[in-house]
Order: sequence, then C-alpha cells, then structure tokens
Amino acid sequence: MSAFDTDIDVEVEELLVAANVPTDAAAGKTGAWRSERPVIDFEVCIECGQCFTFCPDDVIDHDLDIELDYCKGCGVCANVCPVDAIEMVAERSF
Ligand code: SF4
Ligand code: SF4
Repeated sequence: MSAFDTDIDVEVEELLVAANVPTDAAAGKTGAWRSERPVIDFEVCIECGQCFTFCPDDVIDHDLDIELDYCKGCGVCANVCPVDAIEMVAERSF
C-alpha cells in the first residue's frame, strides 16, 4: 500500500476526472472574458487551415468565420498562422 492509497486520494482523483469532462458552453458566452480578438487578413491568408485545426475552443469554422461569443482571445490561431494573417486586436478598438 502506498502513501497515496487513501479514501481521500480516491475522492480527489474522481474530482479531477469530473473537472476534465467537457461540457457544452457551461460557462455561457465565454468570449466576454476576452481582451483581444483575432482578425484575419484575407488578402494574406493562404487557407492552410492551421488556425481552425489548433484553436483550443474550436470556434473557427472551415470558412474562417470566428464565433466571437466563445473565442477566448488566447492567440493560438495567430501564433500558428504561417503567414501572419491573423492579428490580435484589442477589444477596446471595436
Ligand atoms: S484567439 Fe484562441 S479561441 Fe479565439 S479563435 Fe484564436 S485560437 Fe480560437
Ligand atoms: S492559419 Fe493563417 S493562413 Fe492558415 S487558414 Fe488560418 S488565417 Fe489563413
């Protein structure tokens, strides 16, 4: 028996599993938390698909429309874009 084989550890493990089960927009329109939003320059975009492939919230569709209600403004899309077609722009600019 290890030091971690206790009833308390089992409960913690169950809580961690529960915390990692995705739920559908459980926190509502989470885009309200965002301080910057991604803006795509379609003159520069080469339609490689990297942005919608790597967006952690899956809010960019294959037409490159961004569902801003749920975009967190994390900037992953801008970082993976190979041609720098995505600029993160401050929300106060809109
Ligand atoms: S900023 Fe983040 S959440 Fe928003 S579209 Fe880009 S990768 Fe997705
Ligand atoms: S990653 Fe950049 S170049 Fe590729 S589809 Fe998205 S915006 Fe266009």
